[in-house]
Amino acid sequence: MTPSIRLGRILGIEVGFNWSLIFIFAWITWLLATAILPTDASGYPPLLYWLIAAFGAVLFYACLLAHELSHALVARRNGVKVAGITLWLFGGVSRLEGEPASARSEALIAGVGPLTSFVVAAIAFGLALATTGNKLITDLFSWLTFVNLALGLFNLVPAFPLDGGRLLSSILWWRSGSRQKGVHNAVRVGRVFAYLMIAAGVLELFVGEVANGIWIAFLGWFLLSAAASEEAGSAVRTLLRSVPVSAAMTSPVVTLPDWVTVEQFLESVAPNHSFTTYPVHEPSGKLTGVVRLSELVRLPAGDRANKHLIEVARPIADVPTTNPREDLSALIQRVGLSLEQRVLVFDNGSLVGIVSPADVARVMTLRQGLPKP
Ligand SMILES: [Zn+2]
Repeated sequence: MTPSIRLGRILGIEVGFNWSLIFIFAWITWLLATAILPTDASGYPPLLYWLIAAFGAVLFYACLLAHELSHALVARRNGVKVAGITLWLFGGVSRLEGEPASARSEALIAGVGPLTSFVVAAIAFGLALATTGNKLITDLFSWLTFVNLALGLFNLVPAFPLDGGRLLSSILWWRSGSRQKGVHNAVRVGRVFAYLMIAAGVLELFVGEVANGIWIAFLGWFLLSAAASEEAGSAVRTLLRSVPVSAAMTSPVVTLPDWVTVEQFLESVAPNHSFTTYPVHEPSGKLTGVVRLSELVRLPAGDRANKHLIEVARPIADVPTTNPREDLSALIQRVGLSLEQRVLVFDNGSLVGIVSPADVARVMTLRQGLPKP
C-alpha cells in the first residue's frame, strides 16, 4: 500500500495516507455525529455533533498513527529500515524493509503496537474521567477508550498479518531456533483462527446478524489469504537472504534510442539480442524509459510503423532502481515481485544491469539446490 498523499516526517519517519482512508473517515464522522454522540449526550445543536465527530475521526487516525509509529520506531532501533507509514482504508501499515535479525527484535517490534494502543486507551480513559463536566467531550473520550482497547485486542489475534501473528511467530522462532519454522507454525495457528472467524461469520448470518456476519467472515477470509502470502514470502526471503542484486542481475544492458519505431525495433534489434527488456534513451543519452518485448509484439501491426519507443515505454520515473550490493530479499520486499516488475541496477550513476522476476527465479532455483547451512 503506497501513500498517495504525503503528510510529512514524524521523528524522522515518512508518514502518508492513501485516498481510501477518506471513506472510513467519513463513515466514522457520520457514525459519531448521528448515532454514538446523540444517544449518550442528547440536546446539543446538530452542527456541534458534526464538528466534534470530525474532530473524533481525526483523533482516531492520530491513535492509529501512534500505534504504527511505535512499530516503526522500535523497528528502527532494532536495525530494520523503515520506508514509512501509510494510513489507509483498514488502518495503518508500517512499511519495513528487511527483517529483524532476532526473535527478540521481532517480538519487540510486533508487541509494542498493541501495547501503545492500550496506553492510548488508558490516556483516553483518564481524559474521559477528567472531562465529566462536558457530556459531549466525555462521550468522545469514552468512545476513543473503547476503540483503542478494541484495536489492541484485535491486533493480538494470533494470525498474520496482525501483530499477534508476528508475536506468535517470534515465540516459535525463539523456541525452535529457526525463523522459517516459526513463521510456518504461526501460519498454521493463524489459519485455524481464520477458519473460526469465517465459521462465526456464517453462524451470525443464520441468526440474522447479516452485516456483522459478512464483516467477520470477510476478515477471516482476509487473514486466510494473508497467511498464504506470508508463508510464501517468508520462504522466498529465506532463500534470497544475503544474496546481492549483482548475483541475479542480467548484465550488461543494451539501451536503445527512444526515437526508433516499434517496427524498426521488432525487425532489426529484437532478433539480434537475447534480452526481453530494454531501457531507452534520448539523443543526449539520458534514460527516458523501459520497453518490453512482450508488450511491443502485442501492439496492433498498423501502429508499429508510426509509434516510437518513447510513446510506448514505461516512463523512467516509474521504474524502480537498486544498486548491485542491495540484498535481493530486501529488494523484493521493497518493490514486490510481480511478473511485470523490472528493476534497473545503477552503480555510481551508471546503468550496470536489470533484474527481472525470471532472474530472481533462476537464483532461487540455484539456492534450493544448495545444501542447507
Ligand atoms: Zn500493529
